[in-house]
Amino acid sequence: MSETNNATPEKEFAAQYVDRNARAAALLNDSIFYFGELGMQERETSALMTSLLEEGGFKVERGIGGFPTAFCATYGSGSPVVAVHTEYDSNPDNSQQPGVPEPAAIVENAPGHCEGHNCNGSVLVTSALAAKAAMEKFDLKGTLKIFGAPAEEQLVSRPYLVRDGYFDDVDVAFTPHIGAQFGAGYGLVQSALISAIFTFHGETAHAGVSPWKGRDALDAVVLMDVGMAEYREHMLPGTQCQRVITNGGQQPNVIPKTAAIWWYFRAPDAKGATAVFERAKKVAEGAAMMTNTSVDVDVQSAVWPVRGNQTLAELMQAEYERIGPPDWSAEEDELARTLQKRADVPVEGLSRKVTRMKGPAGQKTSANDAGDVSWKVPMVKFYFPSNIPNINYHHWAAGVALATSIAHKGVVAGSKVLASAVLECFRNPDVVSQAKASFAKEVEGNVFFSMLPKDQKPPVQLNFAEMEKYRPAMRAHYVKERPHYV
Ligand SMILES: [Zn+2]
Repeated sequence: MSETNNATPEKEFAAQYVDRNARAAALLNDSIFYFGELGMQERETSALMTSLLEEGGFKVERGIGGFPTAFCATYGSGSPVVAVHTEYDSNPDNSQQPGVPEPAAIVENAPGHCEGHNCNGSVLVTSALAAKAAMEKFDLKGTLKIFGAPAEEQLVSRPYLVRDGYFDDVDVAFTPHIGAQFGAGYGLVQSALISAIFTFHGETAHAGVSPWKGRDALDAVVLMDVGMAEYREHMLPGTQCQRVITNGGQQPNVIPKTAAIWWYFRAPDAKGATAVFERAKKVAEGAAMMTNTSVDVDVQSAVWPVRGNQTLAELMQAEYERIGPPDWSAEEDELARTLQKRADVPVEGLSRKVTRMKGPAGQKTSANDAGDVSWKVPMVKFYFPSNIPNINYHHWAAGVALATSIAHKGVVAGSKVLASAVLECFRNPDVVSQAKASFAKEVEGNVFFSMLPKDQKPPVQLNFAEMEKYRPAMRAHYVKERPHYV
């Protein structure tokens, strides 16, 4: 595949498109940053992204799979079918002013981007428009499908989209994600996860006067938590579970009739996550029995571990070695060093490295809802350099770079690499057949099945109240200028 290392007229044309539209890409990046919308509530974000794709000549289907903020934008026809998908949601209480290397919220306690999914959204749209422009110009055959995937932080949307057939006709898929340098791995790169809310039901009573008349749902939550804490010692290495109590009752003098605990069960594979979940259901039944309550279980999401296809990972590697990391300025490097010092992490400035893949990637304990896609079709998760090295996500420090020239340069570089890889699949269909052949070997013996219950519906109310609470104050900070791609 050495040929992929070469610049081709199609890729040159796409790179020029990206350079010409660097300002639009930055405006889109910053617009999504200031929208700061939580998962399932990405209304402004998806409205802007879909209108830009539509204006650029894509046919857009909004609200796919019952997700109001999901979309599929299509260009071209016939095979191969190349899909690109990513997320654009924020996190709670992660409001942070860009360019300020100390904790400084834009709106106190509000949601915000501290994982750079705003950059993901800009790379998705910018690379799609660039690839489409080159497909049109050079008359390349095939279908480009751009998927907007809501609520990655709660691992919600893509398992539903895969279960409901949206990837059935896809040949290969790419998913871009922010990083501190270029990277793409193959093999198992992340973990499987099942997200489920256990709600216990009892009966209220006056806690001081007649507690014997009550059946306490909070007791059941506490006992389930204790049961799981005891079970942790006996879990297989690499298996984890985490929880928050989402409903612990209303006030102490009323025995809680309803209480709920939300669990994430993580394991290196789907089988392991399922085993822990089945065990947790038994623990919950035990807790219900002990407290004379009942329990119901609502699965929010269930994802397979993200895996990378070797053929596609090597393709990405060739493209980012050719394009190279951004040329950082002294000021950008200085901001990175100041932040690294302030965040107490190794002070190394910005990354100019292009690391070579040395065999399969190491598997992380994190999960991403793209996992199911990666077992359905050959897929690669690709990292582009819009973040500052050594800074951990979901922390105020991870918001500092996200609407600065550091993020913007990373988005430009990432969009060029992604558009080039996509174009390689259209101009050289051998890459697609090779990816399918290596994928068949990689997943041999693992038949994909959706871990979602068959009738499970997307949790459309997720984050609604939290987002509505902060949206009016956040609106004052929205970017006024609309991006315009030419
Ligand atoms: Zn992410």
